[in-house]
Amino acid sequence: MFEQNFKVMDKINEISKLGEFGLIDKLTSGFEIKNSSTKKGIGDDAAVLNYEKKQTVVTTDLLIEGVHFNLAYVPLKHLGYKSVAVNLSDICAMNAVPKQITVSIAVSNRFSVVALEELYEGIKLACKFYSVDLIGGDTTSSSKGLLISVTAIGEADADKIVYRNTAKVNDLICVSGNLGGAYAGLQLLERENEIFKHNPKMQPNLSEYNYIVGRQLKPEARTDIVKLLDGINILPTSMIDISDGLSSELFHICKQSGVGCKIFEDKIPIDEQTKLFASELSIVPAIFAMNGGEDYELLFTVKQEEFGKIEPLQDISIIGHTVKDKETKALITKDGKSVRIEAQGWSSFQ
Ligand code: ADP
Ligand code: MG
Repeated sequence: MFEQNFKVMDKINEISKLGEFGLIDKLTSGFEIKNSSTKKGIGDDAAVLNYEKKQTVVTTDLLIEGVHFNLAYVPLKHLGYKSVAVNLSDICAMNAVPKQITVSIAVSNRFSVVALEELYEGIKLACKFYSVDLIGGDTTSSSKGLLISVTAIGEADADKIVYRNTAKVNDLICVSGNLGGAYAGLQLLERENEIFKHNPKMQPNLSEYNYIVGRQLKPEARTDIVKLLDGINILPTSMIDISDGLSSELFHICKQSGVGCKIFEDKIPIDEQTKLFASELSIVPAIFAMNGGEDYELLFTVKQEEFGKIEPLQDISIIGHTVKDKETKALITKDGKSVRIEAQGWSSFQ
């Protein structure tokens, strides 16, 4: 895994030979339009969309090599997939359905055409999996490194869009999936990369930790959770996706909604591999969940009356509830102590 990117990054700059238009053609070939709202995709000065009676939800992210990703251990195909998935996650967090993306890249001459094709293979895989259309973008050069910007567009009925600022007092606080795995995976990859840098003959054995590595390298947007909640007629009172760790996202919902929160350590869903790796580092696993990031699960609140509908769901955990006092942001630990949640301060409850 650690050598993969170097193989495809030969130093010959074939990009200039191909030319900008040749490159765009090569990268964007084989993408199919799947959504009727896409009236015109790639190939004109602008794409044309028609959402008819739905509302449009738009979000964008900029990813910079060395800041947001490290190509020493992130395969380009995974990077392409993840760049799309994290944007679609923001659309899900509005309770909307993603339909289109644009992808813009800036590349230095360190990258070969084959390397960029790898990146676009990942983008294509995500487009296929989530049924979204690639409808445009921009391609330019950078003096150093790779930059990727993805914009995602989605649709929702006006009365179904869910914001961060609408949680009410005594709502149940819920999360999808499990938390902390992506951060654990990142710590593991960083550690193995350091070992590899000092001894390139040492190939890491990550098989014991394949799940957390996957959580870091190939996160998914929870379009399935949006569908699931809709299917059982639950409209969350507020929602956000977990990109920066549970603490930080709880703070956003509480601050914007004008409520406090109380959550329970033993209710936070954490996978076995995350626990195992945390114990290897002598860290309480809940810290990975609270202050790690990039899990891209959904954090949402629902009315208490929905308890009976939510409780049986395998992939959703009720981790606490909102409270009236805005100042209260409490984590009740396994031994019953109440600890103040800090936006990022994870030493506070170790
Ligand atoms: P313009 O000169 O109008 O910016 P371009 O030549 O950059 O047009 O792009 C031509 C077409 O290819 C447009 O539809 C544009 O959206 C699309 N495109 C350009 N770069 C990319 C990219 N990296 N990924 C996807 N589509 C792209
Ligand atoms: Mg352009």
